Parts: sequence; C-alpha cells; structure tokens
Amino acid sequence: MDYKSLDIANPTEEHAMLREMVRSWVAEEVEPQALEYDREEKFNLPLLRQMGELGLLGITAQEDYGGAGMDALAAVIIHEELSYSDPGFALAYLAHSMLFVNNLARNGSDAQKAAVLPKVCSGEWIAAMAMSEPDIGTDVLGMSATAELRDDGCWVLNGRKMWITNGCLDDDGTPCDVVWTYAKTGVDAKGRAEVSTFLVYADTPGFSVGQKIMDKTGMRGSNTAELVYDDCIVSPENMVGQPGESMIHMMRNLELERLTLGAMSLGIARRSVYEMNRYASEREAFGRPIRDFGQIQRYIGQSFAEWRAIEAYLYNVARQMDLEKSGQRLDSDGIKLVSTTLAKEIADRAMQVMGGYGYVGEYVVERLWRDAKLLEIGGGTLESHQKNITNDLSRDSSIIG
Ligand SMILES: Cc1cc2nc3c(=O)[nH]c(=O)nc-3n(C[C@H](O)[C@H](O)[C@H](O)COP(=O)(O)OP(=O)(O)OC[C@H]3O[C@@H](n4cnc5c(N)ncnc54)[C@H](O)[C@@H]3O)c2cc1C
Repeated sequence: MDYKSLDIANPTEEHAMLREMVRSWVAEEVEPQALEYDREEKFNLPLLRQMGELGLLGITAQEDYGGAGMDALAAVIIHEELSYSDPGFALAYLAHSMLFVNNLARNGSDAQKAAVLPKVCSGEWIAAMAMSEPDIGTDVLGMSATAELRDDGCWVLNGRKMWITNGCLDDDGTPCDVVWTYAKTGVDAKGRAEVSTFLVYADTPGFSVGQKIMDKTGMRGSNTAELVYDDCIVSPENMVGQPGESMIHMMRNLELERLTLGAMSLGIARRSVYEMNRYASEREAFGRPIRDFGQIQRYIGQSFAEWRAIEAYLYNVARQMDLEKSGQRLDSDGIKLVSTTLAKEIADRAMQVMGGYGYVGEYVVERLWRDAKLLEIGGGTLESHQKNITNDLSRDSSIIG
C-alpha cells in the first residue's frame, strides 16, 4: 500500500470493520445509558457481558481460548469508541479486558488460560486487577500485601487492595469472579520486594470486598472497591508464573494499560470537540452564532488541533506496540502523559463554549470533564510518567538524536 493512503487509526480492513461495529453498538447501547449510570453511580453489568457476545472482551487474547487474537491497536479502537460516549463504562472494560484478560493471555500457563480465559472472554465471569493498596500506589515495590508458602504448598495471602475497578459488582459488595492479585512473596538481595501473582476467585476462603468506594469525582459508571485478603488460602495452581517473577508481568501490562488510557483520552477529546463545534453553530449571541467570535474560535481551533495531535501519537504508538514484548514504556508513558491533560483541557473548553448548558449532565461534556481527571491519576500519575520518561532517556536517548 502507498504509505500516503494509510489511515493511521484504521490501518487494516479488519481494524476499520471493528471500529464501525463498535461505533454503531456504542451509539445504540452505550450512549443512552451513560448519564443515568453516572448519576446513580451504578455499573452496567449486563452491558459489559454483551461485549462478550460481540467478541470484544478478549480482544487481545488468543483465539484458542475464546479471544479475538487482535493487537494493541484494536484495543485502542475499542477504548476510544467507548469513551466517546461513556468513559466510566470504558474503565470497567479496561479493567476486565486489559488488566486481567490480556495479562492472563500473555503470562498465564496453558492450564490457567484453558480454565479461565473462555469464561472471561465470554463475559460469564467479570475480572479485576489488584495492585494498589491503601498506603501505596506509585511506590509499588513498597506493597505490604504478602503471600506465604504453607507446608501443603498453598499460599496464604494477607493485606488490603484499594481502588480496584470491578472489584465489586454492585452496591451490596458482591465480589467480581476473579482478581489478578499482586502480593509480596519475599525480598531480593538488595532488599527489594519480590512480587508474585495469584488468581483469587470470589469464593476463595479469606477473600472479601471491604467496601465499594462511593462519591468519586468521575468514572462513576464503574465500580471501585477495597478488597480484603485475610488468611486467604490460594492453591499452588493459582499462582501465575514463578515466585517473584511478576514485576515483569506488571510492567509489561502497564504499557498496554497506559496506551488504552490514552485511547480513552482520545475518545473524550473527540467528543468534546464535536459538542463544542455543534453548539457554537446553534447558539447565537449579539445576533450572531457564537462561532463568529474570535475567543470561541480559539477554543475550537486549539482543541481540534490538539485532538488530532493525540490521535497521531496514540495510533503510532499502538501500531508499534508488541504485546509479547516489554520495554516499550517510553512512549506508552509519553502518550498517557500528554493525552490525559489535553483531554481534560479540551473538555474544559467545551464546557466554556457551552456556557451554563455545558455545566449540566444532559449536555455530556461536564461528565467527560469529571471522567478525564482520573486519567491523570489512574494507571500511573502524571508525575510517574515524567519520572519514567526522564529515567529512560538517561539510559538511552538515541531516539532524540
Ligand atoms: C477510580 C480509580 C480506579 C482505579 N483502578 C485501579 C485498579 O483497577 N487496580 C489498581 O491496582 N489500582 C487502581 N487505581 C489506583 C491508581 O492506579 C492509583 O491511584 C495511582 O497509581 C496513584 O497511586 P496513589 O493514589 O496511591 O497515589 P500516590 O502514589 O500516593 O501519589 C500521591 C502523589 O504523590 C506523587 N508521587 C508519588 N511518588 C512520587 C515520586 N517518586 N516523584 C514525584 N511524585 C511522586 C504522585 O504522582 C501523586 O501526585 C485506581 C484509582 C482510581 C482513583
């Protein structure tokens, strides 16, 4: 193909068909429920299960286990399209499909994949990933959840996990079906935590939901929970990989997580540009459409150009990301760093253009504005991306000449 005719956001026919399918499903099913679920802080579980029927929950999982076998760019398309209408719901999808399903598909044993992937790809089971704790987030090696090996080969987990998307399914604290849980199983020669992964099921003894975290600023269409592990007994076949091997799982999956959080930012940015552009033609002031005013033009023009810049960077990183490899965080941190703040600022401008109407739920952008803020915190804070990029460039700066 002539490189000039490449559509970076839909580089193959398969990607274009995926976008078309997701876009029309989102317009029919996701858009109409978004306002209500945000207002009521409810998670739309049946809607997430529907994505299993559409073959979207295991988008990057192997076809042998019920997945779609597609790439990081396909995952980006889905997150962008979902977030155009409902970033809160998109976050629940991300927690399930990227943080759990992709992690298991890349790092699990054949037996674990055969036992669990078909259920999470179909939507029969809903899953989460638990890394953060009440006292640690960015400083992940400081985690205090532990797993100790018992004489019979079982592991005993103790600790608490905080902020876990999909950790509970409802307001009654019903846990999700399976949680990818990181815990410390020792320390290395330098005294650093050795981190291991455990598959913890809803009925695992000693596992429970501590609380559903209420009254979040945004992302209210997804459930966020505190999880409790109190002498939680995990059988040896539910450890993923070898003891102490999980930092690599965590780092590799964070790359995809940051990329797809960037895709959520893109969806927010595109919708915000759409809403402010439409409104600026319809609304009149002083006998003219407000789009005639230079200050409004500055909001729209700046936002349009920034949206296009996010899109170009995002799809370039997505195109290059290899799900089987690690060591790609320079640009996954880069796209998340730049896109999240731009999305928040673009949503803010959309509210400004829409005046009082922009400030109420029915007009969509105030919800996007609230949702956008989380993207500067979750999956790594802005400061962690700045630190990672600067550290990586100190080791190898060949990319900048
Ligand atoms: C709605 C929501 C959903 C989430 N979902 C999940 C989930 O599904 N699974 C999961 O495991 N976690 C989840 N998280 C947790 C999220 O990833 C963390 O909040 C995030 O990593 C930041 O950790 P923290 O909140 O503990 O902040 P901290 O790490 O305590 O940071 C506080 C402040 O200090 C700054 N800081 C920390 N270290 C440094 C440093 N070295 N240099 C400069 N500044 C620094 C931070 O950037 C930040 O500004 C979720 C969070 C929210 C709010």
